[in-house]
Amino acid sequence: MRRSLRTQLTLSILLIVFVTVALSSILSNWFINRGFEDYVERQEQIRSEKIVDDLSEQYNSFTRSWNQDFLHTIGMYALYDSYILKVYDVDGVMIWDAENHDMTKCWQVMDEISARMEKLKRDGGFVSHVYDIEQSGVKVGSVSITYYGPYFFNENDFRFIKTLNTVLLVVGAAAGGISVVVGGLLARRIARPVTKTAYIAKQISEGNYNIRFESETNTRELNDLVSAINDLAGALSEQENLRKQLTTNMAHELRTPLTAVSSHLEAMIEGVWEITPERIASCHEEVLRLGNLVADLERLAKVEADNLNLNLAENDLMEVARIAYDSLEAEAVKKNLSMQITGEHSYLKIDRERMIQVAINLVSNAVKYTPEGGIIHIEVKDDDKRSLLLIKDSGIGIPEKELPLIFERFYRTDKSRNRKTGGAGIGLTIVKSIVSAHSGNIEVESETDKGSLFTVSIPKS
Ligand code: ADP
Repeated sequence: MRRSLRTQLTLSILLIVFVTVALSSILSNWFINRGFEDYVERQEQIRSEKIVDDLSEQYNSFTRSWNQDFLHTIGMYALYDSYILKVYDVDGVMIWDAENHDMTKCWQVMDEISARMEKLKRDGGFVSHVYDIEQSGVKVGSVSITYYGPYFFNENDFRFIKTLNTVLLVVGAAAGGISVVVGGLLARRIARPVTKTAYIAKQISEGNYNIRFESETNTRELNDLVSAINDLAGALSEQENLRKQLTTNMAHELRTPLTAVSSHLEAMIEGVWEITPERIASCHEEVLRLGNLVADLERLAKVEADNLNLNLAENDLMEVARIAYDSLEAEAVKKNLSMQITGEHSYLKIDRERMIQVAINLVSNAVKYTPEGGIIHIEVKDDDKRSLLLIKDSGIGIPEKELPLIFERFYRTDKSRNRKTGGAGIGLTIVKSIVSAHSGNIEVESETDKGSLFTVSIPKS
């Protein structure tokens, strides 16, 4: 059977508290009782010695006689304290006996104590001890003291034990009650965000990506869980937007050449336009654009599929950068751009062909998006851990809010969309895919109308 987190937590807390309270009650009860029993036993010993001392003072060694009145008082006091005395003189002749004086009281004392001790389930019975009564080291008589042994509780002791047990019981019950409440609250506090997170996760799985919730707990792990779920919702929402945008962008990319071709062809079919080689060539150009778009898509699909098996070998990133420089130099010159390449050799294990494609895509973007007379700077840097390829241009730049999107397929900034240059928005997607396959990363800094800096970083091992 599956129980809720809250029930399980409450039950666990209850069990722990119950065991703790029960154990501490039993142990403290036992220790306190034991200590008290020892105390009572010691008190009895002291009492007996006191009786013997008191009795010895009642003997007059000059007259060799006992003060009968005081003997009687001591005996009766002792009897009321549940000690039954029999006093003998030095010859063993009984001179005072509690039973003789008050037989009923003696029986009553014995019955009361036996009943009390039985109630407390203590083993024991009446025992008699005989003590010598001495004066200055000389025996003047003896006394037999009978009491309930090994110890007994008088009325006050009995009440004390009862109160103690009640207090322990009340403390136990109170601790149990508090633990139920605190356990319940604690369990609720832990269970609530978990239940809520589960609900949110379900909502997300049903496509409700805009749902978010504030964490109300101070528990770090639960907070992490909540923010992870919120991040997940955010990431999914972004992906969803990109997916929608991808469809729109793709439709746009396809529509432009298709509309041009079909309207041109229509005009020619209907005889509005005369069929001339130039018009056929213009249609052909649009068809070629469509073909390029499809080729780009195929390239991307291939790159993404092939990235799993890179053809790694030791290569110089500088050489890769130079190949990109050489292949785009003519175009840069055509646009009157000043392009330079600097830096150092940097050897590392890469897939040469794919890294050349990365460099070419980045440099060709720089050429595409830098107006006439601009500057492009390609640089290679090397350190122990990684190789860096930097491509800096003084071009049109990318608005800050679009920076995270440019690596998505078919994404083109509005600025570049309006220009004739620009491809289908796949170049950077391919770049990112290849760089990631090399466990590297690509960063971009850019400012509108000032220029952009793309930094590719590839780790050396
Ligand atoms: P495209 O084929 O359109 O160049 P990319 O994927 O290479 O596609 O780039 C995506 C978009 O990023 C471009 O359309 C452009 O808006 C922007 N972009 C890329 N590189 C630069 C750059 N160096 N300067 C300004 N914008 C750039």
